[in-house]
Amino acid sequence: MIFGIPFDGTSSYRKGSSLAPNAVRQAYVNLESYDLYHGIDFTQVKICDLGDLFESEDVKEVVDSVRQIVTLIRSDGKVPIMMGGEHSITVGSIGCFKESTMIIIDAHSDFRDEYMGNPLNHACVTRRSLEILGSDRIFSVGTRSVSRDEFESEEFRKVRFFYSDEVSEKGIQWVIDEIEQRAGPSIYFSIDMDGIDPAFAPGVGTPEPFGLPDRDVRALLRHFAPRIEGFDILEFTPVHDNGNTSMLAAKLIQEFIGSRELSRHKAHSNR
Ligand code: MN
Ligand code: MN
Repeated sequence: MIFGIPFDGTSSYRKGSSLAPNAVRQAYVNLESYDLYHGIDFTQVKICDLGDLFESEDVKEVVDSVRQIVTLIRSDGKVPIMMGGEHSITVGSIGCFKESTMIIIDAHSDFRDEYMGNPLNHACVTRRSLEILGSDRIFSVGTRSVSRDEFESEEFRKVRFFYSDEVSEKGIQWVIDEIEQRAGPSIYFSIDMDGIDPAFAPGVGTPEPFGLPDRDVRALLRHFAPRIEGFDILEFTPVHDNGNTSMLAAKLIQEFIGSRELSRHKAHSNR
């Protein structure tokens, strides 16, 4: 169940992520409907796009609405795929996944207690999520931008941050193994597009060099997809794109759906 939340009210640097959902849709229709890797024909898969669901300038209102929308989708037994918009909206969604493990792709720690006077700013998402999920339940991959205050806070140790340099030195399989040791059966997966290297994803609000290769993000997604019960993809801004970021976002959504479908088919044939 796909939906867009075109909200960029707390963006601090380059705006435009409110235009993202439609740019991703435009890219998506250019993808082949057959998935070579997973052997899935997407014309046979039940995918529903609800369109863009909520527009408001008030972040609290948006976060509350996201929580309500995701609650409805989950109570219907569906998997929500949310297209942002900026990262602040994840706080609404994660409120519906209190028992889950959270995996975040992000260049930034997003660990400020408040930013520009607002605790719901996109720079505070991981901190808010920690308050909802508790210690040792959040794994953030691709970190390379942290303030000293955030780094020195006691709370910072309660989230496992995999620094971008650490990932490139030890490899993505090592990251998967580390997360696998502690992850529960239900996973929420949040992709802030700036976690990926700007060479692959230039169209983001706050680009950071030396990021994750696109294939590393795909490897994580493929590995955990069978257990992912909620997914979002955010912080993409078409205004600064050369066309590659929208295509990558569309492809990651399709990868997620393909991986999940394959695992469903396997579960079915094993019965
Ligand atoms: Mn973020
Ligand atoms: Mn970020």
